[in-house]
Amino acid sequence: MVKEMMQRLIELNEKRKNKLREEEILKRCGCICYCPECHDALNDQADCEDADNVKYECNCGEVSEWDFDIAPVPILMSKNKKSTTKG
Ligand SMILES: [Zn+2]
Repeated sequence: MVKEMMQRLIELNEKRKNKLREEEILKRCGCICYCPECHDALNDQADCEDADNVKYECNCGEVSEWDFDIAPVPILMSKNKKSTTKG
């Protein structure tokens, strides 16, 4: 019983921390990039460069490339972890 309650509290705390983290990223970068694999916020792991193309490497190993130039929100250009073979 106590263990379950503790687990719930930890979960809630994690959610709150995540929300704070996203707010912090929004404040700093103006937008949030989410990992296409695990949907973790990416751009607090790298500096917010003033570049058109930015590469992020997620904690899960996924490498994704984003274009900040085309739209007000960054667009996912490519992800590299899984090699897709066409044909
Ligand atoms: Zn990830």
